[in-house]
Amino acid sequence: MDFRLTPEQEAFREEVRAFIRERLPEDIRERLAMGHPARKDDVVRFQRILHERGWAAPHWPRAHGGADLGQAERLILQEEIQRAPAPMPSIFNVVMLGPLLLKFGTAKQQDHFLPRLASGELWFCQGFSEPGSGSDLASLRTSARREGDEYVVNGQKIWTSSAHQADWVFALVRTEKAPRKQDGISFLLIDMRTPGITVRPIVSIDHAHHLNEVFFDNVRVPVENLVGEEGRGWDCAKFLLGNERTGIANVAYCRERLDFARALARKLTQAGRPLAEDAVLQAELAALDAEVRALEVTNWRMLLAPQTALAGPSFASVLKLKGTELQQDLVALIARLGGLTALERRPGEGEGSEHWAAPGNLRYLQSRAASIYGGSSEIQKDILAKAALG
Ligand SMILES: Cc1cc2nc3c(=O)[nH]c(=O)nc-3n(C[C@H](O)[C@H](O)[C@H](O)COP(=O)(O)OP(=O)(O)OC[C@H]3O[C@@H](n4cnc5c(N)ncnc54)[C@H](O)[C@@H]3O)c2cc1C
Repeated sequence: MDFRLTPEQEAFREEVRAFIRERLPEDIRERLAMGHPARKDDVVRFQRILHERGWAAPHWPRAHGGADLGQAERLILQEEIQRAPAPMPSIFNVVMLGPLLLKFGTAKQQDHFLPRLASGELWFCQGFSEPGSGSDLASLRTSARREGDEYVVNGQKIWTSSAHQADWVFALVRTEKAPRKQDGISFLLIDMRTPGITVRPIVSIDHAHHLNEVFFDNVRVPVENLVGEEGRGWDCAKFLLGNERTGIANVAYCRERLDFARALARKLTQAGRPLAEDAVLQAELAALDAEVRALEVTNWRMLLAPQTALAGPSFASVLKLKGTELQQDLVALIARLGGLTALERRPGEGEGSEHWAAPGNLRYLQSRAASIYGGSSEIQKDILAKAALG
């Protein structure tokens, strides 16, 4: 297969590059280039800027705030945003919930939510996992009992990223106990301001507050916030998780981090010589380059030739598995290059240090979770084994 872009796609890449060069706020670019994760404010600010061109949700229909772009253009945009580096629009809004509403939502839900998801006006979080129901998600127990025009929700979610900053949560709840655990699950949109919701922080290994427990105590949710059919939420979950996994792979972010590591190797010295001259490091960088290239090619091949054998749900698993492994290898290398300097930032400190090594180290710690969230690596291997072996 020929991977060359058409002249129109090359021109589109140039257009995107010029737009990002001109419009990406410098403070955001600097913070991300140093290795800090994007903050909510960074994401919202840049999402609004992209939204002016329909590029926050490029693959959605124009009528709902997108740009009707094809998969190739979507991938070009993603590559240029991640390589800038700039923050990607909210994955919960654009990659997960938006496409789900386009497929399963009512016209009213689409009209109300999609423009707000694309613009970043609303910030959604994902309420799937529960204590004891992560990999075995279908065993979830948070219940929703129908009372007239409302559901009454009771139970607990855990590991809910950015719930403390969210306006809404999309949640899987059990509306019926069925013999098959995948049945009787429903997909609800819940306003986080509804009485009965409590959010409790979980501080992670990087000493930051990304994660939360969310408790539901007799939370009343209008029935019109049900997405898809009652009891068929598992169909929604499967559709959404495939998109989530593809989004988590962050292929172009791997390239950006590799370029960053290379630049560091040229800048740093050991015994008076640039680290870039070290043969062992050169071999490591070359091996990582080959891996990143393979992932890039896989990404393009699957998007442009979805009829190939590995397309479908297993594609998302390949990308998620390899993409997160590579992210971890790359940030581990950057943390190693930082050496002792990387340890200078103490637990609980804010973004005080201006030295690249400190965020590099925190990023390394945070990256350990990438092979857990969105479905652990073991689960992806299970999916691939089943796809390969039948
Ligand atoms: C940083 C972070 C952010 C997250 N954000 C969100 C969020 O926003 N919303 C949300 O709903 N969830 C979120 N999660 C939860 C995440 O989806 C779960 O942690 C994940 O699905 C694993 O579930 P678990 O933690 O219950 O682990 P378990 O399922 O208990 O797994 C424990 C270990 O056993 C292994 N294992 C389990 N089953 C099998 C099997 N069948 N075969 C082989 N090995 C197996 C797993 O791979 C893992 O190593 C987040 C998690 C993290 C770490």
